[in-house]
Amino acid sequence: MGSKQHSLVISPIGDLHADGELLERVRREIREVFGYETDLLPLIDEKDLCLDPVRKQYHSTPILETLAIICPPEAVKVLAITKVDLFIPILTHVYGEAQLGGRACILSTYRFAERGSPGTEAFRCRLAKEAIHELGHTFNLRHCRDAACVMHYCRSISEVDRKSNHFCRTCAVLVEDEMRRSLQSDGVGF
Ligand SMILES: [Zn+2]
Ligand SMILES: [Zn+2]
Repeated sequence: MGSKQHSLVISPIGDLHADGELLERVRREIREVFGYETDLLPLIDEKDLCLDPVRKQYHSTPILETLAIICPPEAVKVLAITKVDLFIPILTHVYGEAQLGGRACILSTYRFAERGSPGTEAFRCRLAKEAIHELGHTFNLRHCRDAACVMHYCRSISEVDRKSNHFCRTCAVLVEDEMRRSLQSDGVGF
């Protein structure tokens, strides 16, 4: 099994592909936590995202459906990163959204740019944590009550700042089991 076969796709939307420092940070943390190499592959244009005319925000769920369809079949997961403000109908906004146990997740930089300007260490740190968090959902993890666990659900930026960038012991065991299962179901015999 080549590493290519099990790489994870990061799909920057709009001019985010130019933020090399942010992307490099997210890639490094994904490699450290999940052990996957990542490929940068812009799959969607910002102009193709559908603006909600009333809320002036973007509904994340349809974007996930598109990503899951258009991402290369050999990709384990796809994580899109966008600058636009995302929402799901029951919430005022979301930092990101993921398909639970599915392939696609998305992350928005919009809310993290509120306090501490983009380009700061704090900004990149928040984004890396939420990237791990959303990918954790695609590996079937639910929210964790441990406030230090990266799977903790945060309602505010200060809560994001307080949690760590890694899984608690329980979540770490669950994600390892899930990764093992997904390798087996690929029919890979090694
Ligand atoms: Zn979550
Ligand atoms: Zn946890």
